[in-house]
Amino acid sequence: MPHDQPSADPISRPDTGAASAPVPVSVPFPFSAIVGQDEMKRALLISAVDPTIGGVLVFGDRGTGKSTAVRALAALLPPMRVVVGCRFHCDPDAEATWCGECRERAALARPDSRLEPVPVVDMPLGATEDRVIGALDLERALSRGEKAFEPGLLARANRGFLYIDEVNLLEDHLVDLLIDVAASGENVVEREGLSIRHPARFVLVGSGNPEEGELRPQLLDRFGLSVEVRTPATIADRIDVVRRRDAFDRDRARFVLTWRQAEDSLRQLVLAGRTRLPSVEVSEATLAQAVRLCMALGTDGLRAELTLLRAARALAAFEGDVEVTDTHVRRIAPSALRHRLRRDPLDEAGSSARVDRAIVELFGP
Ligand SMILES: [Zn+2]
Repeated sequence: MPHDQPSADPISRPDTGAASAPVPVSVPFPFSAIVGQDEMKRALLISAVDPTIGGVLVFGDRGTGKSTAVRALAALLPPMRVVVGCRFHCDPDAEATWCGECRERAALARPDSRLEPVPVVDMPLGATEDRVIGALDLERALSRGEKAFEPGLLARANRGFLYIDEVNLLEDHLVDLLIDVAASGENVVEREGLSIRHPARFVLVGSGNPEEGELRPQLLDRFGLSVEVRTPATIADRIDVVRRRDAFDRDRARFVLTWRQAEDSLRQLVLAGRTRLPSVEVSEATLAQAVRLCMALGTDGLRAELTLLRAARALAAFEGDVEVTDTHVRRIAPSALRHRLRRDPLDEAGSSARVDRAIVELFGP
């Protein structure tokens, strides 16, 4: 499995429990069993419906299961069909996105395919640019004409998720690069006149702790959605969190089986949402409300409006609706807009509160 996770992650720790069923030790916690965190779950799910929304920035306390949620979502999705032998796991059915090697292979014979789990790749802090985009060995390429490209993390993340823990601690130029590649769906590596390109479509998920260094506003604005997660506050929720985690750790196979039906239903909603997405309509009136909301909040440029529109459409598709309504817009607006607000020296309220207030003023209570 193309996971690149630190061994400290409880999910990848070898299972020392008594579970005897053939559940792989790397099996993640089921997505549907995550308690609360509705905003985060919704943002991740609609990103799975429409990966072009532009990724999710998750702000919140440590230990709120951000990484668990991303892995759980990837595991919820059906395995993807990949070209056998391709280092970028190209999709055999999407010829237009193939890498050069797949094109060469296909010229000789129809490529074989197999199933692979949707990848979740961890971005290590301090990774070099070569490690991220891949390394082109010029000497080898020129002297021996061999395949001189060593794929990086972006290749491994193709068609899956790239997770950056503590995105605010990553160098700005790397964050910039990741966002560029995620937006274009292609990684281009150029060295002294040689160039290699390969598909790199992934959903970027960054986690951050607002107290530990801030992201530049220009970078914040480039993430599609942002969500806030908190440690569950009620005793009932905390009991649920502990009880489920304990049950999972004691007997993964049984726990996964208990949640299988919920997982199946959720998977069907995502898949149906993807199918429905291209035909979901947005009325002029609803679009006008979305634009008015962005204007009232003073968000810059078109990106806010576009993201709000796409996110509302993906939400409608996920929920089985054929048309985007004001309700979709107002429910997704905090996630689509709160990280795009400029500081207002005359307004002490936080970004979420300002978005909420503008929503009520425009749409009513
Ligand atoms: Zn390929």
